[in-house]
Amino acid sequence: MNENIMICVYCKQDKKPSNEHVISKSVLQAVFGVKIRNISGSSLFSKQLLVDHEQTICDVCEKCNSLLTKYDESGALLVSEIDRYYDLTSKAISFNTLKLGWLLKTHLNFLRMIPRKDTHEFYEFESILLTQIKEYIPIDFTFFSLLLNGWKGKDYFWKEDDERKISYFSYKSIEFPNQRIVVSNLRIKALDTFIFFPSDCNYDSFKSRCSSTHEQMLFELEIFPEQIDVEQAILEGKINIASIIPFQ
Ligand SMILES: [Zn+2]
Repeated sequence: MNENIMICVYCKQDKKPSNEHVISKSVLQAVFGVKIRNISGSSLFSKQLLVDHEQTICDVCEKCNSLLTKYDESGALLVSEIDRYYDLTSKAISFNTLKLGWLLKTHLNFLRMIPRKDTHEFYEFESILLTQIKEYIPIDFTFFSLLLNGWKGKDYFWKEDDERKISYFSYKSIEFPNQRIVVSNLRIKALDTFIFFPSDCNYDSFKSRCSSTHEQMLFELEIFPEQIDVEQAILEGKINIASIIPFQ
């Protein structure tokens, strides 16, 4: 097998891979500046975090990668807006289909990169979502559930010279085996974003499985993000951040 050829996850054709940044390069640049690639000498990040920030994934061809740039531009706008605050209490974040597309694309990038903890297999997901993203056709909101949780953060959380600072982006996925749901969780500074997908790509009773997962998050994990009506948020052009995690 030629290692320079792979099947592109977007167009399903045998192609040469490009380096798709897991978190768009334009988003990293919007937050960290154009010198992101040379930041290793900076005290801002430990080496480990730097690697995480620069992570790329090699299952997207150059052509599809270039078709996705509109999302990267919108992602940069979204993240720049989030970047203005460390406390999201009473804040609203502008939202539209391109910002949703960027968020979904980024979560799906992570989901393709981080396998299940137990079997080390990757989660399957509905590939129609990737087609809808790539073709810029309306995204089917029934294929996922979006939940958000803002933080009442402290300014020192992200102060580069403070010992108590935490990472700017953080990602994890949590499987709920009873509901057959995988919760993909990407935190961008003070905004925790959760996207629920079926862990087995099966959409039977997906809505009620999501509600049950949401309840389990509250009672067992004591996190209670608010479910977002995506259609309404796009109509209004914004999301009011209603659920806030306080920090003492
Ligand atoms: Zn492709």
